[in-house]
Amino acid sequence: MLLKKHFTKETINNVHMANGTVSFRGIRLNVHCFVVDGVLIDTNAKSLKKECIPFFKQQDIDQVVITHYHEDHTGCASYLQQELHLPIYMSDGKLEYCTKKADYPLYRKVFWGSRGPFHAQALGKTFKSRTATWDVIETPGHAMDHVAFLNQETGQLFTGDLYCQEKTKVVLREENIITTIASLKKVLTYHFEDVFCSHAGYLKNGREALQRKLAYLEELQGTVIQLHEDGHTPVEIRNQLFPKKYPIILFSSGEWDSLHMINAILENHLQHTHSA
Ligand SMILES: [Zn+2]
Repeated sequence: MLLKKHFTKETINNVHMANGTVSFRGIRLNVHCFVVDGVLIDTNAKSLKKECIPFFKQQDIDQVVITHYHEDHTGCASYLQQELHLPIYMSDGKLEYCTKKADYPLYRKVFWGSRGPFHAQALGKTFKSRTATWDVIETPGHAMDHVAFLNQETGQLFTGDLYCQEKTKVVLREENIITTIASLKKVLTYHFEDVFCSHAGYLKNGREALQRKLAYLEELQGTVIQLHEDGHTPVEIRNQLFPKKYPIILFSSGEWDSLHMINAILENHLQHTHSA
């Protein structure tokens, strides 16, 4: 298979980061996992398992916590459970789903491999590591079970896929951008220092980056509602605001599309105008 892989490691402020990249037909995707204070945050993808194993073995890991169920975050969970006998924790929304083998479209299996089944335990509102208590912050939107992790000792915040990039252009069909906006606002009420994103990695000036993303999404929301009130259809709005046809849209048969953001904004808008 013409899947190209790349794997890098670095350490920033005591956080050991592994970044796996897969490329196929001009589409390049990456995902990080992190180890700090005996905690592995997310497990990377099954397609990068061979590259991840030396990293996992070299680290001193007591427990695994997962930000959300997507296969690029859970791909090596079954290995970590079966071979390294590590306890795994995630929010309860997709616990059951993860005990079964992967069922997602082929293009996702090409990039990320087939996630094996694993049995995680439900996270509470907080958990403890060797030297710290962590907040588990419910931050749905990207996925219904999404959580962020805040180390109360160091102020280091792990945002999973809440951020990814400032100016989101395409999202998964299941993502609700209105819920993402609420989650960004929620996370910004916490006191934190360093921010680590599963895709963008370490964010310099993390708080400002999250604020800029929130501002971008709120502006997008206003623009979409205005265009709707001017009589444009969702597809017309998409074509006007997001004219670029990203390869992932075609490759995923529309599971990734800018249209999902517009639909979520308008659905929310219509709910509010009807109930008003
Ligand atoms: Zn995700």
